[in-house]
Amino acid sequence: PPFPIPLSGAVQRGFGRGGKDLGCPTANLPDESLAHMSQITQTGVYYGYARVYPPEDAENLSGQDVKVLPMVMSLGWNPFYKNERLTAEVHIMHDFVSDFYGYHLKALVLGYIRPELDYISREALIDDIETDKRVALNSLARPAYEKYQEDPFFQSP
Ligand code: ADP
Ligand code: MG
Repeated sequence: PPFPIPLSGAVQRGFGRGGKDLGCPTANLPDESLAHMSQITQTGVYYGYARVYPPEDAENLSGQDVKVLPMVMSLGWNPFYKNERLTAEVHIMHDFVSDFYGYHLKALVLGYIRPELDYISREALIDDIETDKRVALNSLARPAYEKYQEDPFFQSP
């Protein structure tokens, strides 16, 4: 598989549904940022690293918030576009002091976790998201992945 896959773009506003109520806000990436994902049509949940780049005059994020951080990413067909467009949403495993809409985001996709599934309940979905986060952190803990956190890709927006 062609990992690592680099993604890069300004964080877009979504419909605000799901994310924060499920305890799992997802930063939505613009379509153009998915150019490198185009070989990949397998929808589902991926893991990797991400970093947020505040504009020069921003004061709202802390130093912790701009580190290279672990992430899980959902790739799916967007119902809003009649399922003709892929959409990527990145949940970064970190408590941010504030939102970062419009800020530049970079992500390095390193592996696949699972396909999209249907859930019988909200609780079942929340449980599975927790499993995804654990799987991602366990995978990223392998020494072979550490180097990606220091990758030159993340050094500038
Ligand atoms: P939307 O539909 O606008 O994407 P969400 O409920 O998914 O709404 O929230 C996403 C927003 O939350 C992101 O664009 C970002 O500004 C903010 N956010 C705060 N913490 C995180 C996080 N840990 N991971 C991703 N986004 C976060
Ligand atoms: Mg979202």
